Amino acid sequence: MDDREAALRRAADLGLAYLASLDERHVGPRADAAQVRDRLGGPLPTDGTDPVTVVEELATAVDPGLVASAGPRYFGFVIGGALPAAAAADWLTGAWQQNAALHALSPAAAAAEEVAGGWMLDLLGLPRDASVGLPTGAGLGNAVGIAAARHAILAKAGWDVEARGLYGAPEITVIIGEEAHATVLTALQYLGLGRERVVRIPTDEQGRMRAEAATEAIAAATGPLIAVLQAGNVNTGAFDPAAAVADAVARHPNAWIHVDGAFGLWAAASPARRHLVAGVEDADSWSTDAHKWLNAGYDCGFVAIRDPEAHRAAMAATAAYLMRSELRENWEYVFDSSRRARGFALYAAIRSLGRAGVEALVERCCDLAARMADRLREADGVAVLNDVVLNQVLVRFGDDDERTRAVIGRVQDEGVAWLGGTTWKGRAAMRISVSNWSTTEADADASVDSILRAARA
Ligand SMILES: *Cc1c(COP(=O)(O)O)cnc(C)c1O
Repeated sequence: MDDREAALRRAADLGLAYLASLDERHVGPRADAAQVRDRLGGPLPTDGTDPVTVVEELATAVDPGLVASAGPRYFGFVIGGALPAAAAADWLTGAWQQNAALHALSPAAAAAEEVAGGWMLDLLGLPRDASVGLPTGAGLGNAVGIAAARHAILAKAGWDVEARGLYGAPEITVIIGEEAHATVLTALQYLGLGRERVVRIPTDEQGRMRAEAATEAIAAATGPLIAVLQAGNVNTGAFDPAAAVADAVARHPNAWIHVDGAFGLWAAASPARRHLVAGVEDADSWSTDAHKWLNAGYDCGFVAIRDPEAHRAAMAATAAYLMRSELRENWEYVFDSSRRARGFALYAAIRSLGRAGVEALVERCCDLAARMADRLREADGVAVLNDVVLNQVLVRFGDDDERTRAVIGRVQDEGVAWLGGTTWKGRAAMRISVSNWSTTEADADASVDSILRAARA
């Protein structure tokens, strides 16, 4: 065995051992970054180390700082694991080391993105002739969608924003909900639209944009307009009123709707939940994640744009040496140029589940969230704060924030499950997000048991 084979085989064994430990492992970290730094750190080595030793020492040093977020009882943030086929394809992607920017660099990577991208449009009920890109995540997908919006509405107003920038450009009104995700604000900040120069629409008790206020704001906007909707609130799972906003935008002469559907857009893949995204199909651009609910493994976002020309105009380079081909070039649809070939794992994830499997995955997670909410609601002094319409549950213990935070801390310490805290309507809450492919009813029940033990302690 040469060095390369020895190192990769050792990595495969260590990776498999880790994955096998997910069921039993303390779910949260056992060490903080400072402790892991002490285990990893030291001065820059002068001499090299053989690859097998590097792999072994790395795995040993970081182990206590690893979070079992790929496992079945991690309910923090909104996190996906990796389906077996996706994890395996990701390992191959590492071995293949393709540069996914161009056909000239890897026809294989180009084809995988094209095929998987088309399947994503089908799964999510989006127009089949929309253009697609695979950014690192939905956050940058938001930036791509808003960049295409900025291009299209300013072009319509007679302004070439890519060439001339925003100096002297017609002003754009940007409408977002009070509950817009942080990455919508960073997208506005990157694109010169200003994260504070926005019209913030008040939200209701579930975090949904109020339809009437949105309609009024859209009617009042005289110049070019971008409305950013959220499909799936990170706390409640609620959806902005897309149909009402689409109606109002249809009466505006120069407007664009972008949908941040990082996880909630997956409701479209389930006939039982599809009503939640009604109206979303009338938008102009959509951003979601394959690494969250689809469980395609990190990193894999997805963005689709109804008008492919606006997409390319906003994102593509114009360097003369890059002769424009008839081919779809991956890098013309995202911010990155050279990058890993995310399309292989995405392809593998969808191929392994099929349409029926994706539908079942979404349904199962929603059912498990409802099951956990039902048991928690029945317990004394425990309140479920949101309408559990999707995979998110907000829980509060007793009446003071301290108690809720203490329960969260005790659950994290016990390590059977990991749940995080959030602030909802100014008060502390525990947030449960069920989005892992491997979570079973037994996992949900064991996790609720742990929560109730912590609540009684
Ligand atoms: C997670 C999330 C994002 C950001 O996605 P990344 O994958 O972290 O880039 C944006 N919007 C919502 C609603 C999210 O849940």
